[in-house]
Amino acid sequence: MTVTNDNNTDQSVSQDGCVTEFGGAAAPCLFCGSESSKVRFTFKDPGRREYRLRGCLNCQARFIDPTPTRDELARAYDAAYYGKGSGKFSGPVEAVLDRFRRGRAVRLAKLLPDRARVLDIGCGNGGFLRALHALGSFELHGVELPGPAAERTSRYPFIRLKTGTLDQSDFPAASLDAVTLFHVFEHLDNPRDVLEMAVNFLRPGGFLVLSFPNIASLQARMFRANWFHLDPPRHLCFLPPAAFRKQAEARGLRILGERYFSPEQNPFGFQQSLLNLFQTRRDALFEDMKGNRVHNSARGRLGLIIQRVFVVLTGAGFVAVDALESVLRTGATVEFVAQKTGEADSTSSGKTVTDQG
Ligand SMILES: [Zn+2]
Repeated sequence: MTVTNDNNTDQSVSQDGCVTEFGGAAAPCLFCGSESSKVRFTFKDPGRREYRLRGCLNCQARFIDPTPTRDELARAYDAAYYGKGSGKFSGPVEAVLDRFRRGRAVRLAKLLPDRARVLDIGCGNGGFLRALHALGSFELHGVELPGPAAERTSRYPFIRLKTGTLDQSDFPAASLDAVTLFHVFEHLDNPRDVLEMAVNFLRPGGFLVLSFPNIASLQARMFRANWFHLDPPRHLCFLPPAAFRKQAEARGLRILGERYFSPEQNPFGFQQSLLNLFQTRRDALFEDMKGNRVHNSARGRLGLIIQRVFVVLTGAGFVAVDALESVLRTGATVEFVAQKTGEADSTSSGKTVTDQG
């Protein structure tokens, strides 16, 4: 339970009865900058630091408060986040993820003309761009923060990589055929600026493909502080799909499709959220799968093995749950496909735009 008083300082009573005072004024909305927001609930990161999830009363964004410091984020994004080998996860998990990357690449490639210029913001290991490269002759650009993921991507000569953050001067206006952000939007401390830059870089008729956790989903509402996709302190800002639609349309984008079914993200998210109800340290299995040793004791290791067995045995059931949620448009993640409106022929690629949902 959390109460917000008039001067916007909060007192939170957690489930274990612990009272936390949050000092200072509330952080402004990470998306629109509004000072007007309300605390939805409090939650803890794996290091047991407590945060509030605020809901902006102006744009409906939900955002983490206090904003994690640079040091906290640096620790959260250390080498363990990106994995030690060629990918973030172990070989078999990366192989499965590659299949999903290929699926996304196939869906986008169908919309693009030959030699299309594509930018993947937060391109990680370059997996999506590599999948696109295998499908046609595209000019491929990626942006990624310095670190192991960017180093891996820099080994592929066909990817023009910028190491750092996206900047207005990176591309001329109306010069790109597609911009993609797969599970990147929620990590940004300037999501509105990046959305506006992406729209500016797109030519009229160009495509924006963007996916992020659905804070209005059944999972998010069921699990609240224990929801896997809160991923504190890395996820900073969430737009409910209806709010994103409004922001996109206000910037000259036409929504072509919304996809809520994601067997890559949602079934595991449900399972890990369930497991979080029974342990003090959130997302322990997920951390372990990335090679982060969260437990060294025999009892702890046994617990993680039991969790792995649970995930494997119940996987198909949770894929079915995800399918049902996606029919109801309440899946735990959403992928938007939008097209920039404008004077150019919106079907200049000569290809038919089909609903991605
Ligand atoms: Zn806002």
